[in-house]
Amino acid sequence: MSAGAGKKGAVIAIDGPSGVGKTTVAKLLAKRLNYRYVDTGAMYRAFAVAANTAGIDLNDNDALKAFADKAVVRYGFDGSISVNNKDLTGLIRTQEAGALASVASSRKSVRDLLVRLQRELGLEGAVVMEGRDIGTVVFPSADVKFFLDASHNERVKRRHLELIAIGLSIKEDVSKEIEQRDKRDTERAESPLTKAEDAVFIDTGALSAEGVVEKMLAIIKEKGVADIHS
Ligand code: C5P
Repeated sequence: MSAGAGKKGAVIAIDGPSGVGKTTVAKLLAKRLNYRYVDTGAMYRAFAVAANTAGIDLNDNDALKAFADKAVVRYGFDGSISVNNKDLTGLIRTQEAGALASVASSRKSVRDLLVRLQRELGLEGAVVMEGRDIGTVVFPSADVKFFLDASHNERVKRRHLELIAIGLSIKEDVSKEIEQRDKRDTERAESPLTKAEDAVFIDTGALSAEGVVEKMLAIIKEKGVADIHS
């Protein structure tokens, strides 16, 4: 393994839009590498839910910045997430939370706060971090970067199944929801979703989650940046 001095292991960045199976794949990969899994979308969701609950208008830049400047966000080893000591883990998976996150995440003050936390979590390495800007902004020098994508229809199908699997009722047209989030996430001025030049592109449409992970492990092995556990 060739992790830098003081690091426990590599930093693996996984980016891509909603519904490409990032979470499933990132969790499986972290398990195979014995690395920590970090879901940065959970942070944007929790922050947005907390701000919304506090009565902040997410389109009001100044109010959002004032809230972000004082917010204490904690991400636990078990993936739990709290804002200002309130555990929000159980409240962030809804379509509404996703839509709120997509609005709040376009604000610089929010990104500054959460990118700082993400960098702290990845400082020692041995981490698989998934999001929209991990390979481009959070860790531009990540040891390995992946960018996952799939067709719109495939992503709608996956997202639908995801919501059902966690027992949530579908409140909005999933296809429209994905379209709106894609538009906001790719067109925003602050850290828009884009593939880093040196990221490995994987189309997850035709592959199972295990198939994607095997592909990733082969690339990680080729680069020699991490020990692989069976
Ligand atoms: O991945 P997930 O659907 O949980 O992300 C929710 C929203 O958070 C995304 O639509 C995106 O707007 C935002 N996000 C982001 N940057 C990240 C992770 C998520 O802007 N690194």
